[in-house]
Amino acid sequence: MNPGFLVDQTRPTGWKGAGWRYHAYSFYLRQRYGGRVQRISLDGGMSCPNVDGQVGLGGCIFCDNRSFSPSRRGPESSIPAQLEAGIRRLRARFGCERFVAYLQPSSNTYGDVARLREIYDQAISHPQVVGLAIGTRPDCVPEPVLDLLTEFAERTCLSVEFGLQTIHEQSLTWLQRGHDYGDFLRAVECSRGRGYRIGAHVILGIPGETGEDMQATARELARLDLDSVKIHNLYAVRNTPLEALVQRGEVRFMERPEFVCVAADFIESLSPRMVIERVGGSAPPEFLIEPTWCRDKAGLQAALRAELVRRDSWQGRHWRS
Ligand code: SF4
Repeated sequence: MNPGFLVDQTRPTGWKGAGWRYHAYSFYLRQRYGGRVQRISLDGGMSCPNVDGQVGLGGCIFCDNRSFSPSRRGPESSIPAQLEAGIRRLRARFGCERFVAYLQPSSNTYGDVARLREIYDQAISHPQVVGLAIGTRPDCVPEPVLDLLTEFAERTCLSVEFGLQTIHEQSLTWLQRGHDYGDFLRAVECSRGRGYRIGAHVILGIPGETGEDMQATARELARLDLDSVKIHNLYAVRNTPLEALVQRGEVRFMERPEFVCVAADFIESLSPRMVIERVGGSAPPEFLIEPTWCRDKAGLQAALRAELVRRDSWQGRHWRS
């Protein structure tokens, strides 16, 4: 391990005791399963109410599902075929034998319950799949779907990731999310006690948000005692409404040092228990417009850790329970 990542070994056990500055997903998976586990992105062919007109048309300002979901870039294939291909690829690359099936693109709790059950069933049917992760919107969990999620939480290690992005209404409107923060709070409250892990996706660097605004989002996630968070930087991909704003020079993206600084602040405000499943977001070169620094994921992670080392800080340092 890079000694630069090491922290005081006298601090409590867990990720800190193991020398991490934050509760990284890879560390969590190793602790939980006793070895390497990789996530496989699966496309269940779902739609989204912010695309099909139920809530809105055109989707969120930044969204092209093909840009952030590898499973939507390939030719259409069944869930079992996607699993087989993913397992082959990840086994060859990482030598791992256990996997989390990740229903990633679009809103994977949106649709007929019988159809959702069929997709979830297929996703966990492979003997090497040890868990299921479902990405969705906070306004897409009606009671029958919540009951379905409860059922699957009894069958596998289930986590449900809600796209939140920010707690600030003005920003949600700018992002054209088509839901408000109240929808997220309701989704979290309705999910509690159902046996699955609850996570949130957030975006740092939304125009108009200050550092204090972003930390307020972190404090809310900590207050809600969520299980996990994915932290993204705002970035623009082609053929989205955001691209038009970029072309008109109406959006400024954070440079990497600025993002590293606000991400470190954000992490300091989270609770130590929460798992950080991702820091930074990007897209393949054929999709990505700006900022290009986010293509270097390893460099970004190293810079973030270096910043936490420089501060002699760690996840939860400013957390107040
Ligand atoms: S809710 Fe998700 S899938 Fe739907 S438009 Fe927004 S980012 Fe895309």
